[in-house]
Amino acid sequence: MPEHAIDLPMPVRDLRRRIGDLSLRLRTSGLQAKPGEPRFVDFDKIRLPNGEVVGRKKVIVMSGGCSVPTCTMCPFTNLNNYGIEGGRSAKSLLEQVRLTLARTEDEPSYEVLSLYNDGSFFAPKEIPRDVQVEIAHLVAAAGVKRLVVESLPQFVTEPVLRPFVQALGEVRLEIGIGLQSADVLVRETLVNTRITQKSFERALAVMAGLGVDPKIYLMVKPPFLTDGEAVTDVVESVDYLTGLGVSGMTLCPTRVSPNTVAWELWQAGQYTPPNLWTVVEAIRRVHRQLAVRVACVNLRGSDFESVFPDACSACADGVVDALMRFGETGEAGDLPADCSCRPLLEVTGLDHAAIAARAAQQLNVLEQAGV
Ligand code: SF4
Ligand SMILES: [Zn+2]
Repeated sequence: MPEHAIDLPMPVRDLRRRIGDLSLRLRTSGLQAKPGEPRFVDFDKIRLPNGEVVGRKKVIVMSGGCSVPTCTMCPFTNLNNYGIEGGRSAKSLLEQVRLTLARTEDEPSYEVLSLYNDGSFFAPKEIPRDVQVEIAHLVAAAGVKRLVVESLPQFVTEPVLRPFVQALGEVRLEIGIGLQSADVLVRETLVNTRITQKSFERALAVMAGLGVDPKIYLMVKPPFLTDGEAVTDVVESVDYLTGLGVSGMTLCPTRVSPNTVAWELWQAGQYTPPNLWTVVEAIRRVHRQLAVRVACVNLRGSDFESVFPDACSACADGVVDALMRFGETGEAGDLPADCSCRPLLEVTGLDHAAIAARAAQQLNVLEQAGV
């Protein structure tokens, strides 16, 4: 992966700025603060790296949202108190964590707690340092064996992580990082996430030094890419991560939600989420190289506004079920076979000049449409 480009060619620098500006401009904050209670709670079972299947509680706390919300597909600011005065209340966060951990008789037992805040757990603007450590103490006292949080890598530094890990005591920590792509153009310009190769690799080293497990999210078909390019992007990203010794990866096929660049591109006929068969192809290709499981999330949702990856009406539900099953078992035999709707997929390399030119053209279309 090329190093973070201080020496970006001018057109790419312009493109990055245009996309980032648009992404921020499209975000809207609600008029009224949403109540200070988790916006999502769910229980399921997951397989730990040692093969053991355990219960998990997954909670998304109501927060003030991501402090770096530049990503072109991310809908989270639609769902939390982004931009609302008083939306970033540390007191409310702690209260929500306390309530989350207060075990009630009617809730399923769990050993893993996934605690998400629609952004970066270790960003001090989102969760102040002392509150991070206080949360670690609460989790440790609650008998949880494994805690999962998410963060951009630039916030995962030794001075921040060490006291947190110490406060967690026996609780094993996993940090999810949405790298999205190993390709610098795709990641930093098209997805427009603020992750450099340097900060990512430094965070991995800090985590390894403190016994923290990484889980890396990769997108399938970021905005501005074709399905054929998306497969290459996944394969090259998995290669890069494998080379770094990372085995915990999750593929996230893009869904299209309002108030995002992806949504505007879709409305203008310039982008569609990946075909489900593209997702299958990407998994097939990385599965051959990898002994590890590649899970899939985000394939269906209760959110009727968003547009999800799809295929034809005869196969789509079956493909989603098969992908979910594959996510649990990791058995290639669980991948769906075929359907007559499966489009011809021409897997192509990532030609940066051509992709940048296309992205600029697509932005022009949006501008002409008054976006
Ligand atoms: S960094 Fe994460 S939470 Fe923030 S905009 Fe990007 S995807 Fe969304
Ligand atoms: Zn079909």
